[in-house]
Amino acid sequence: MKPVPGIFNLSPPEIAGIQDDLLRETVEYAASASPYYREVLKEDGGRAGSVRRLADLPSLPLTSREEVQRRNRDFWAAPRDRVVEIVATTGTTGEPVYMPMTRDDVERLAENERRGFEWLGARPGDRYHVAVTLDNLFVAGMAYHLGLHRLGAAAVRIGAQPARRHLDLMRQLRPDGMVCVPSRLLTLARQAREDGLDVRDFAPGKFLLIGDSIRGQDLMPNTLGRLIAEAWGGEMRSTYGLTEAGLAFHECPAHCGLHSHPEFLLCEIVDEEDSPLPAGEPGELVITTLQVQGMPLLRYRTGDISFIVPGSCPCGRGGTRIGPILGRKRQRLKLKGTTLYPKAIEEVLLSAAGVENFVIEAHAEKDGTDRVVIRAGTADRSSIFRNNLNDMIYSKIRVTPELILEAPGEIEKALFEGGRRKPRTFVDYRES
Ligand SMILES: [Zn+2]
Repeated sequence: MKPVPGIFNLSPPEIAGIQDDLLRETVEYAASASPYYREVLKEDGGRAGSVRRLADLPSLPLTSREEVQRRNRDFWAAPRDRVVEIVATTGTTGEPVYMPMTRDDVERLAENERRGFEWLGARPGDRYHVAVTLDNLFVAGMAYHLGLHRLGAAAVRIGAQPARRHLDLMRQLRPDGMVCVPSRLLTLARQAREDGLDVRDFAPGKFLLIGDSIRGQDLMPNTLGRLIAEAWGGEMRSTYGLTEAGLAFHECPAHCGLHSHPEFLLCEIVDEEDSPLPAGEPGELVITTLQVQGMPLLRYRTGDISFIVPGSCPCGRGGTRIGPILGRKRQRLKLKGTTLYPKAIEEVLLSAAGVENFVIEAHAEKDGTDRVVIRAGTADRSSIFRNNLNDMIYSKIRVTPELILEAPGEIEKALFEGGRRKPRTFVDYRES
């Protein structure tokens, strides 16, 4: 693991030069150490040897998530005695992917996360309340822990605990910052209100957030972002982490997209035909890991839809930035010539006054398009409310899905159908 000192201050050609070298190194390593890439790159007519620079990247084949799941062990590249950690993806679809990490991979992870904390303003001596699982093969919890150590700040590893336990700990230790899932902040604020506490009295002031985005496509705070900012105040930064990448992207003080760490990762956005898209255009995020020994990945399809933020960042840091994740590729909806993701509809419903909860359903139509049904839970089921909500949805997403108004209790049942622990707001009937 080689962090390049001051990499973010280098000029675009200097960064590209470093990435050229690291890409060449990565392809050579994968072609020799990873059984999967040895095979694929040989079949590919020895193209690996012709990859000299970033411009050659599109000539390499893409790697799908399914392939990594199906042939997981063939992606393992490091000798067994150099592996110090084995982590896994959460496996929302299909089998989990196990990923071995060498000591250098762990250092790469720690350095990457140290930067995220540093950009947030963390300093040696600070205390960070880490409300993220640290075990269960979860890489992110370990990343935050190591990043804080590397920075010289204290990690308060509470992990996943009931709301009151978090609130008690915050009042006792007064952390300077916090790492958590954005929606968790809403739960904690609600619990505090019920207990007659004002979270502002002990709010950590700095938040590194994992999971759901708190910004929309325009990079402005979305409904979730606004709600947590109202409740807690302070500085909030999004991250986008990916187990397979062995790192996360970080928002900087300018809140102008999520920075990739140039010497650890390359990113591309590709369209339906797998052609690279220019900055600003949404498509699938494809990543190539740099300096990874355990499980290097070349042009890996993340299945997440985002875009490259055009132009240089006002914060002055170089390297590629991506926008928030707009949705999952397999959840894409085709509606009367418009393509959108359930997240866009969720965003509208979250900001609609009077809508207490909702479920979005997608059904396949015979003509290849999708029929989308919004089941909204509301006490007001009048035609005026319905028309206003329809207008609001149309004004935001330019389509009008079918709208069914129901009692919130009915929606609540649908959200937790089958004894689910987490509510399911999007139900895809197209797959069955
Ligand atoms: Zn920036």
